[in-house]
Amino acid sequence: MNFEDFNFAPSLQEGLDTMGFTKPTPIQEKAIPIVLANKDLIACAQTGTGKTASYLLPLLHKIEQEDKDDINTLVLAPTRELALQIDQQIMGLAYFTGCTSIAVYGGGDGISYEQQKRSLTEGVNIIVATPGRLIAHLTSGAINLAHLKHLVLDEADRMLDMGFYDDIVRIISYLPAKRQNLLFSATMPPKIRSLSKKILHDPEEVNIAISKPSEGILQQAYLVYDDQKIELLEQILSNSEYKSVIVFASRKETVKKLNSALNRKGISSEAFHSDLDQDSREDIMVRFKGKSLAVLVGTDVISRGIDVVGISLVVNFDVPPDPEDYIHRIGRTARAETTGTAITFINEKDQRKFGRIEAMIGAEVIKIPLPEEIKTGPTYEPEAKSKKKFNPNWKKKFKKKPNS
Ligand code: AMP
Repeated sequence: MNFEDFNFAPSLQEGLDTMGFTKPTPIQEKAIPIVLANKDLIACAQTGTGKTASYLLPLLHKIEQEDKDDINTLVLAPTRELALQIDQQIMGLAYFTGCTSIAVYGGGDGISYEQQKRSLTEGVNIIVATPGRLIAHLTSGAINLAHLKHLVLDEADRMLDMGFYDDIVRIISYLPAKRQNLLFSATMPPKIRSLSKKILHDPEEVNIAISKPSEGILQQAYLVYDDQKIELLEQILSNSEYKSVIVFASRKETVKKLNSALNRKGISSEAFHSDLDQDSREDIMVRFKGKSLAVLVGTDVISRGIDVVGISLVVNFDVPPDPEDYIHRIGRTARAETTGTAITFINEKDQRKFGRIEAMIGAEVIKIPLPEEIKTGPTYEPEAKSKKKFNPNWKKKFKKKPNS
């Protein structure tokens, strides 16, 4: 499935293209149709799954179809950091639309409060707010939420842990009774269930079970430039005692090139991809399972489904497009209670993607220094904004943001 299948407003699709999002993540596939159908939603999903865009995209699509005179959507978030992060995603996704947003959070000085107040009275379509500061603005009369259509509670479990229950209930007393409610939470303890009973009307439920890599997999990564990858792989394969290895690459052209390079170095390997006929595939698999073929180079075609016991090493020649694919790829090793190693090559372009994977598995993967013979690779900066995704000039189009 691609984002085009949702038929979003062209201005929104343009934002998606610019951000480089092509395929919806599992939570997006499930949540977007529900939000578009104007239903209430309770979703269990963690950071890293793409949960933010799973509500922002359908809401922006809806706002784009309507007149934009009033505050349309309120997103409540537990912390200033999350509020800013959500607001930044809105800026990216909504860049080509006419929607405006503001992040409203406490902790600043009196000046930022006044700036927020001014922006709020000027009018904005989406408010992303931490509960305490929003109440200050509500009681001062700076915000009129009478025409609000959508309420989102993001990281609801954390908001309750931080003692925001009463604030949330109070904020809701300012909202029109008829509205769409979306609740996102990383966990579903009973207090979230009772909050949802109070706020949501006949909600649809979405649950994204987070797959976790098996405990037996030793995960490692190298930071490399593209032209260092083949040499590094040859070294790993020649110097090691790995008996059964899968090397993953995202494109079949890379798989073919890589396989030839390994063969030239005397490493016996086979390329496995969608161009092979059934007989060749079966022949390769029989040899790989029987351990007469040590190295299999393949696309994600082999990341799901093949169940070969005793694979000692998985190498990700590039970072897979989504965290689920990473889990599937590395899950080829350490099957049936055995142990195994998974090594990922991260070039500069893939660092953000790998950061998302680490967020989803809830762990930092060890970065090993490159062997001495190979020159130093790039430094790891997964948070650095890619030039393609963020252009500082984008801000011009938006109303002035306090403190940001
Ligand atoms: P979240 O779980 O909302 O915190 O999102 C985690 C990261 O994934 C953010 O940096 C998003 O920009 C990114 N992201 C969200 N959806 C997609 C997608 N469909 N394709 C690629 N990246 C995405």
